[in-house]
Amino acid sequence: MNIKNYINGQYENPINKEWIDNYCPANGEVYGKIPNSSKADVENAYNAAQSAFPSWSQTTFEARSRILIKISELLEANLQRFAEAESKDNGKPISLAKTVDIPRAASNFRFFGNAITQFASESHESVGHNAMNYTLRQPIGVVGCISPWNLPLYLFTWKIAPAIAAGNCLVAKPSEVTPMTAYLLGEICNEAGLPKGVLNIVHGLGTTTGQAIIEHPDIKAISFTGGTITGAHIAKVAAPMFKKLSLELGGKNPNIIFADCDYNDMLETTVRSSFSNQGQICLCGSRIFVETSIYKKFKKDFVEKVKKLKVGHPSDESTNIGALVSKTHLEKVLNYIEIAKNENGIILCGGEQVIVKDFENGYYLEPTVIEVSNDECRINQEEVFGPVVTIMPFNNEDEVLQMANKVKYGLSATLWTNDLKRTMRMSSQIQAGIIWVNTWMMRDLRTPFGGVKASGIGREGGFEALRFFTEAKNVCIKF
Ligand code: NAD
Repeated sequence: MNIKNYINGQYENPINKEWIDNYCPANGEVYGKIPNSSKADVENAYNAAQSAFPSWSQTTFEARSRILIKISELLEANLQRFAEAESKDNGKPISLAKTVDIPRAASNFRFFGNAITQFASESHESVGHNAMNYTLRQPIGVVGCISPWNLPLYLFTWKIAPAIAAGNCLVAKPSEVTPMTAYLLGEICNEAGLPKGVLNIVHGLGTTTGQAIIEHPDIKAISFTGGTITGAHIAKVAAPMFKKLSLELGGKNPNIIFADCDYNDMLETTVRSSFSNQGQICLCGSRIFVETSIYKKFKKDFVEKVKKLKVGHPSDESTNIGALVSKTHLEKVLNYIEIAKNENGIILCGGEQVIVKDFENGYYLEPTVIEVSNDECRINQEEVFGPVVTIMPFNNEDEVLQMANKVKYGLSATLWTNDLKRTMRMSSQIQAGIIWVNTWMMRDLRTPFGGVKASGIGREGGFEALRFFTEAKNVCIKF
């Protein structure tokens, strides 16, 4: 089937009639076409957004809230259909799409539909000067939202919901690798009564469609989630044009395990934090550091559990590990396993491609655990973004803290300990935007979300997102 752009509330073919193949990762077959939209399509999307802006920016927050909550309800009502589409497009297990991706996309709309009714600006009485200052929080205008392939609808809606709630109009682009659920979303927006032109979705390659969005002179803000190299390129193009920028980029997150932790809970969660979504979550704890006294036991128990994970077709409800998202990505991850071997990494389990019966051309890989002895090796420093983790022992807090921080990234970290003082010390010293203690990926949508160092700039989530998608204006009245 051919996916189309969603512009001004209607589905449109790309003007240049250029199409890209859409692959099903589970069997390696092409199952559809995606527009490779050009500047002209982005211009049409921009014009639709620009025309919708005067009215949408003046729509009451109650009306905006009602529409966003309606979108959320319609997504929930279409859970099965969207989950199947996401699983087929991305290769992720259907069980994950049904319990995480689509419910979270619905929550994003509901959350920001509610949040906008509580969003307030400040006032400052300048006592002694007979003046009152207040702050307006005005929508920016037309904004660009660009998202990656790993959690397609989940991350796409994490951007577009607050942007719409705050009164902006959008030109948005999902990843060309996983366009399907963003395509289906257009229908739901129409059914929910979102005025035409508020949300425009253009599909295509980053270097053509994405590039046209970031260099558009009148798109005033870019909210981007994706790789660090792409983020740096976007900053280079957009910063001299004085666009507002939010960049959520790569990670190489430490998972630090102390001997005093609740062992069983840690073990269960560490399997999840290593391999959920085939390890293709920016928050996965891909560097596991274990206190020496429990290292041997952990190594044995962890590898035993990982070996039990079932690699299989994503639509099989019993599958734990589905297909990687693309052939190119599978090759990249396999190459990293070779790099690790050449660096004297010891493959404790996994490391090989899996041939799933009847789906021999799918992109399957065993969950892989690599023991390393040097934390500065490439496999421990570079983002692999697949079902591959490293493990190594540590002797004390100072040593592990140094290793945790000795990477260019700083997105998240997980800490397993029951020592409160240590928790407080380490949480304040680990260089990351998010620290989970005795849990992983427990999300409260009100909290600030984002990274430091090469993991990006800016924060999403809660009022942070609404602040990003509004411009603060100070009004000072002397009386
Ligand atoms: P990517 O950077 O290749 O692509 C992301 C998006 O950017 C896609 O829609 C792509 O088409 C677009 N793009 C590419 N080049 C562009 C350009 N020149 N101009 C404008 N847009 C362009 O990333 P990916 O491979 O899709 O995703 C994986 C990466 O995303 C990983 O590094 C992962 O860590 C990161 N990620 C980060 C977070 C986070 O919240 N920090 C969340 C998920 C994924």
